[in-house]
Amino acid sequence: MEGGGLPTGFTAAPNDLESHWMPFTWNRQFKHAPKLIAGADGMTYYTHDGRELLDGTAGLWCVNAGHNRSRIVRAVQEQVATLDYAPSFQLGHPLAFQLANQLVEMAPHGAFDHAFFANSGSEAVDSALKIALAYHRANGEGQRRRLIGRERGYHGVGFGGISVGGIVNNRRVFSELPGTDHLRHTYAPEHQAFTRGQPEWGAHLAEDLERLCTLHGGETIAAVIVEPIAGSTGVLIPPQGYLERLREICDRHGILLIFDEVITGFGRLGSSFAAEHFGVTPDMITLAKGLTNGTVPMGAVLTREGIYDTVTGAAEAAGGTIELFHGYTYSGHPLACAAALASLEVYKEEGLFGNAAMLAGHWEDALHALRGTAHVTDLRNLGIIAGIELAPRPGAPGRRGYEAFTLAWEKGLLIRVTGDIIALSPPLILDEGHIDRMMQTLKETLEAVD
Ligand code: PLP
Repeated sequence: MEGGGLPTGFTAAPNDLESHWMPFTWNRQFKHAPKLIAGADGMTYYTHDGRELLDGTAGLWCVNAGHNRSRIVRAVQEQVATLDYAPSFQLGHPLAFQLANQLVEMAPHGAFDHAFFANSGSEAVDSALKIALAYHRANGEGQRRRLIGRERGYHGVGFGGISVGGIVNNRRVFSELPGTDHLRHTYAPEHQAFTRGQPEWGAHLAEDLERLCTLHGGETIAAVIVEPIAGSTGVLIPPQGYLERLREICDRHGILLIFDEVITGFGRLGSSFAAEHFGVTPDMITLAKGLTNGTVPMGAVLTREGIYDTVTGAAEAAGGTIELFHGYTYSGHPLACAAALASLEVYKEEGLFGNAAMLAGHWEDALHALRGTAHVTDLRNLGIIAGIELAPRPGAPGRRGYEAFTLAWEKGLLIRVTGDIIALSPPLILDEGHIDRMMQTLKETLEAVD
């Protein structure tokens, strides 16, 4: 244990759960049967009633180095005692610059030269979309205002993110920004079910971007944003050659390509970023989650060479004292920077991305051994990510997934479900024993679920 774990003298459940309106939660069910987490350490969560849970999801895809890492805890503690907060507009503090330098250095293919800070994945996405619009305007192409996402994409919950996102429940109540459109998603079980790694079928789906260029005029499109692996809609692995083709079409039409790497960044695929893993260089990368190991909220946008220079150059020519009218009170917050710098040290010194790469084969074999287990209609994986698709219960979509989540919780395993799809993304400090335990518990869970 590294200093985390079950707090001594902690109290059990708060005696009134009502006031807290919980995010993305079945509130009434939760308050009827709460699932409360009270402590954590390494690969383990502790429930409020003292049970241990194996963390199969790195929290929400963010705690890549495991929980309560003493180095990160210490860095945050020392930072809050040194500089709690510094204004982020027209002023700076050293750690934000240090962190930006390190991120640019580790970014793929030596192609990125600036980092813009936000406080979440949603904010990183909205920042990237705005930077795309600002870039084209500064480049004399102010007509490029259309933003393209993809069906079954998730880019957070800001109005920009839900507009380019493709999750119907995030959109049907709130509507969307004008001038957005979507590529087809890439999932086709009839061609891809039970594929290990990237499916062979589906690269041609990238041509859907040509269709949108024909429909809207390629010269009106500012940016295309995709998750290299769609996580929140149930782990959709890109077909072989798909991302490469998307890159080619963007180049042909002068469209910026944004990879939303909020979940794939920081080792999930065994490399720093998915862009590195797939050998495709986007124009921007959005980051959050693993950036600070989930300890302090933070998001970031990495921009490719030329974007910052174009925006700042045009603004200078026009006069004025601010180049990009965008930013947050907490952009580059000192505690977040301290947490991020310490997380990057832990990732590097412990070789955690390498550990993920080394274990990816065992992960894949253990996952695919679930083939034939009750309810399972597809298994998909890449790096240390897995998706397990269950047949929905007739007339009650999502209920079987939710019950599997509850039963796994009772059996000591934290999983994540999206409808009837289970997603696994454990901390990268895991070993083969953790993988085997996870898959065994999952098998028992699925066999017990109706
Ligand atoms: N983008 C992607 C790909 C995500 O998976 C998420 C969250 O899961 C987000 C953006 C939003 O991040 P946040 O919840 O930090 O706003």
